[in-house]
Amino acid sequence: AKERGRNIYHVYTVVLHEELNKRMKLMKRLRQAVERDKLSVYYQPKVDMNSRRIVGAEALVRWIDDDGTIIGPDQFIPIAEDTGLIIPISDFVLKTACKQLSAWHSLGFSELSMAINLSGKQLQSPDLVEQIMQIVEDSKVPPQSLELELTEQVFIENIQSHTNFMHAVRDKGIALAIDDFGVGYSSLSYLKHFPVNSLKIDRSFVQDLPHDKDDATLTQTIINLAKSLDIGLVAEGVETEAQVEFLLDRDCTIGQGFLFSRPIPAHEFTQLLNQYKGQ
Ligand code: C2E
Ligand code: CA
Ligand code: CA
Ligand code: CA
Repeated sequence: AKERGRNIYHVYTVVLHEELNKRMKLMKRLRQAVERDKLSVYYQPKVDMNSRRIVGAEALVRWIDDDGTIIGPDQFIPIAEDTGLIIPISDFVLKTACKQLSAWHSLGFSELSMAINLSGKQLQSPDLVEQIMQIVEDSKVPPQSLELELTEQVFIENIQSHTNFMHAVRDKGIALAIDDFGVGYSSLSYLKHFPVNSLKIDRSFVQDLPHDKDDATLTQTIINLAKSLDIGLVAEGVETEAQVEFLLDRDCTIGQGFLFSRPIPAHEFTQLLNQYKGQ
């Protein structure tokens, strides 16, 4: 038994060591990627499912490796948060997305809005609102065309700095959306306390619509909730026409998902905008 114990311990140490090593390497590569401008912002359209017009874009960060491999944010945002790299990364995303929005407005798509993701970690920075406003002013986009997406967790934690941040942002005219809405929380009272403009129905509810009875009920409930609180709604992860029909029948008109487009580079998004305009 003693022998086995030692072996297990040995295995754990090796695994831990390898994990740590991998993390350190990734951290170093990520830092270099940030310094060497290897990050890129992709955009995914938010679509009015009735008219099929693009009403907005969500900025989604990508890391383009030297060999062209595209690394998704799920693989590096957590590490970026732990190391503080989230600050320069977000700065880059915000600047790039605002500049791009300004360009699209200049091309005549003046109604287009831009959504940007923020993580809870970032809200701990006391001058975040000033940073954001500086970028907004420099890019000359109206604050009203910007939206910040925060996950439900950030609202629930109910930390004073979060509350201050949200009110300050709303005072500037920037909209707030709750991302991944409905994932595993029972208390909804926070909806009353925060100046929320819209909520995004999490992909996991939309995925098995319309046939999954539970998801259908939950989606209907979320739609009712938003309507009664007079909050805007976006359905995430729309992949099929049957889902569109289900959502439109229930008066949820804005959708985002692979059915309309995957997240794409800016120049491709411009082509999409032109296509939709021409229809
Ligand atoms: P999210 O904010 O929930 O973004 C939506 C994610 O769902 C995106 O993944 C998008 O590619 C994916 N998606 C969209 N439509 C569909 C669909 O129809 N089917 C499926 N299966 N997936 C769909 P992505 O780009 O990998 O982003 C993952 C997460 O990383 C985001 O989730 C967001 O939380 C975070 N993230 C992305 N960019 C940033 C950023 O600039 N800052 C911060 N703090 N987080 C970011
Ligand atoms: Ca989001
Ligand atoms: Ca989401
Ligand atoms: Ca998510």
